[in-house]
Amino acid sequence: MKQHVVYAAVRRRRVRNSAHLVITKEMKESASQTINTTSTINTVSDSINNNMNISNNNKATNNDNNTLEVTEQLQTMRVADNNVSICANCGKEGANNICNKCQQVKYCNAVCKKVHKKKHKKDCGEHQRLAAERAAELHDIELFKPPPPKEDCPICFLRMPYLGSGSKYKSCCGKVICSGCIYAPVYDSQGNQVDNQKCAFCRTPNPKSDEESKKRIFKRVELNDPLAMYNLGCCYRDGLNGLTQDYVKALELWQQAAELGFTGAYSHIGYAYENGIGVGVDEKKATHYYELAAIEGNIAARNKLGGSEIDAGNVGRALMHFMIAVRGGNDKSLQAIKEIYTYGLATKEDYTKALQSYQTYLGEIKSDQRDKAAAAHDCYRYY
Ligand SMILES: [Zn+2]
Ligand SMILES: [Zn+2]
Ligand SMILES: [Zn+2]
Ligand SMILES: [Zn+2]
Repeated sequence: MKQHVVYAAVRRRRVRNSAHLVITKEMKESASQTINTTSTINTVSDSINNNMNISNNNKATNNDNNTLEVTEQLQTMRVADNNVSICANCGKEGANNICNKCQQVKYCNAVCKKVHKKKHKKDCGEHQRLAAERAAELHDIELFKPPPPKEDCPICFLRMPYLGSGSKYKSCCGKVICSGCIYAPVYDSQGNQVDNQKCAFCRTPNPKSDEESKKRIFKRVELNDPLAMYNLGCCYRDGLNGLTQDYVKALELWQQAAELGFTGAYSHIGYAYENGIGVGVDEKKATHYYELAAIEGNIAARNKLGGSEIDAGNVGRALMHFMIAVRGGNDKSLQAIKEIYTYGLATKEDYTKALQSYQTYLGEIKSDQRDKAAAAHDCYRYY
């Protein structure tokens, strides 16, 4: 996968702007803009909390005149809300013809709407601007909330590593098993190591041919297993297990897998739109799918989003993405934060925090058995 490298992006921006100082200033401004965005988010939740406090206080005591006044205002607003059927043009009740641009005012009919159009134009624009602002705030709250952690291995109960080679999907039972447990030796009742050619979870013998692998995975797809769909999609992408390479089929399967709950599959759809594989290049759609995957904890997608923000000069937002990705074990994001810090666009605290996050992640995923597997074969590398 194409990686966004911070210094490359900064260098590109250098070429475009031909003055490093300009870039630095611009980026710093954008970083502070992001901080403002965050503070807006805080303000929004603060105001929600404040409003909750207002009604709580009101329940507790009616002595505070200010509280009463606010409550009355809120009630008036609520009444107005309930009676939104007042025509914004003539003031008559029973209006139900909504302004389809801002969705905020109502009219008796198309005539009133037309008459009021010029007067309403400025308000309408303002309503739309506020709605867009609010939507962006809500979107950011969703986007930057801590994602769910990666699941645990069903055998050793340790956190599953982020790196793909640290675990494998087993089409016999539909479980994902960590490299350590796949590699772990199996002993017979006399304590002799036996040839372990079975699934570590369900003890089904490993498939002996591509044909058998193919049959198993198709069977699981029929059972509506989203992970099987995702994996079959990857087989079509790479032309594995005797399948002819077919990117369109891969995209269909990833979409299905994501809709059935394996949202990590959206990351591959994002990649397809980013690079125009099987679909036309569409940056907006790529970001949309990367965001869907990142929100549900896909760390590679999160790293991509950080890279896009760097390209756009939004260092603050990039840092927020990279920080989340580092906590999930993405060493590329850790490297990116290091580079941002080297350029003086992140603080030493940011970088220290990133290093600590990565250490915490390693503490969660490291095990002797996984180390042994990784030492034995590169295909079991897990960090
Ligand atoms: Zn009217
Ligand atoms: Zn309007
Ligand atoms: Zn395990
Ligand atoms: Zn199995």
